[in-house]
Amino acid sequence: GEQPELDLKKYIREVPDFPKPGILFYDISTLLRNADAWQVATARLARAIAPWQPDLLAGIESRGFLTAAPLAQRLGCGFVMLRKPGKLPGDTVSLSYGLEYGQDTLHIQSDAIKPGQRVVVLDDLLATGGTLAASVQLLRKVGANVVGASVMIELTALGGRDKLDTPLHSLIQYA
Ligand code: AMP
Repeated sequence: GEQPELDLKKYIREVPDFPKPGILFYDISTLLRNADAWQVATARLARAIAPWQPDLLAGIESRGFLTAAPLAQRLGCGFVMLRKPGKLPGDTVSLSYGLEYGQDTLHIQSDAIKPGQRVVVLDDLLATGGTLAASVQLLRKVGANVVGASVMIELTALGGRDKLDTPLHSLIQYA
């Protein structure tokens, strides 16, 4: 069940100065370890994503895997991994993107997606939007029709949503 009264924010732990000074880290491990909260979160995500009728869900390493894999099972979709360098065997396509300090790269297996397949991409949290925007681009490079993006947590004040040209669903918002 979705337990409409259940406030998922109560299950997110806010950790100041992690992983470095000045960052307020939204820790989902306290939600994951609560059976009811995790059920409710998954059910709500499934309800939001189902109308996009995806063929595949793509999860961003590593906390994006946590929602994408169970949701793919629930929605009857395949599951695809977007991974950090050096993790995926065989031919891969990659994309590098800028972070606040330095840059990061994500890979996908070249044959992961059949041309035109409908893909929804998932991560745990949207901050500046750089990670999700790069993931959408990478998925398109291998032929995906990206029909939406979904996160558990959206930090609305950072405006990450505006970096995306796909519909975005978020379960929990913080200003
Ligand atoms: P961004 O590319 O700026 O949208 O950052 C999103 C990525 O960084 C996600 O994969 C998050 O897991 C992680 N992240 C960024 N900021 C936070 C935060 N305050 N708390 C937890 N994770 C974060």
